Amino acid sequence: MVTTSKKIWMDGVFVDWDDASVHVLTHSLHYGLAAFEGIRCYEGSTGSAIFRLSEHVDRLFESAHITLMPMPFSKKEVIDAIIETVRVNELASCYIRPLAYVGVGAMGLYPGDNPIRLSIAAWPWGSYLGEEALEKGIRAKISSFTRHHVNVSMTRAKISGYYVNSILAKWEAKKSGYEECILLDPDGYVAEGTGENVFIVSKGVLKTTPLTSILDGITRNAIIQLAKAKHIPILEERFTRDAMYVADEIFLTGTAAEVTPVRELDDRTIGAGKPGPITQALQHDFFRIVRGEDPTYANWLTPI
Ligand SMILES: *Cc1c(COP(=O)(O)O)cnc(C)c1O
Repeated sequence: MVTTSKKIWMDGVFVDWDDASVHVLTHSLHYGLAAFEGIRCYEGSTGSAIFRLSEHVDRLFESAHITLMPMPFSKKEVIDAIIETVRVNELASCYIRPLAYVGVGAMGLYPGDNPIRLSIAAWPWGSYLGEEALEKGIRAKISSFTRHHVNVSMTRAKISGYYVNSILAKWEAKKSGYEECILLDPDGYVAEGTGENVFIVSKGVLKTTPLTSILDGITRNAIIQLAKAKHIPILEERFTRDAMYVADEIFLTGTAAEVTPVRELDDRTIGAGKPGPITQALQHDFFRIVRGEDPTYANWLTPI
């Protein structure tokens, strides 16, 4: 159960958590066209700050643009509304969920003049896959489900309907006794997790899948920049599931999952069966940055 907070921002006004409802004929509820973001606010030594807020808002607008949803607010208004939502709820650390969706109007597949609505919720949410997952790594499987083809779903957009695929994959993984799964793209190459990007380390080289069938993750981008700063060779290129089996390290990145090591994939031990040195170093850097402990990346943080 989600931990409740006090207020949710809906179309420009704050409403009480319990009153944040929509009509059942809301178009998005039927066909899944809605753009969302997942953003985190972290509590650090000098107060709370939102991680890479402007990048998240940019991506929300891109998702809306790709799917022809005219955003009813400016970027500046959305940024201010997100900050205000964290403040109003008096949350030191939280997960923030903006959602742009197609409101009530036409019920056919041409939503024409239906209003585009925007809500912003924030609530306390600890580590997505658990503290132990961050520390020791998770057991994952390759999903029997395939990730999207770019001409079926445009994967650069974070669109609600796409996540039916993720939910089915996650359900299968959990029921089979794994914590998470990794999906292959329609050509059979590694794509991403249900809500995370994938990295492997092979012989000192860090690799991540290119931006063809995956979401352009903001955590993925941060990890690429951190690896470059550490002079770790990094390649964005396709790789196969067996390349993962023989990799020295695997980890997943995402706002929810943060930097989660994978210690086992399809019952094969990865590396030494525990988080490897490059994973640990990048994870360490990441958590220092989000907590405001590394002034080099202060521009990634928006203080509350
Ligand atoms: C949100 C998401 C990610 C991670 O993106 P971040 O910007 O790092 O949170 C990766 N893959 C999918 C499918 C996602 O939905």
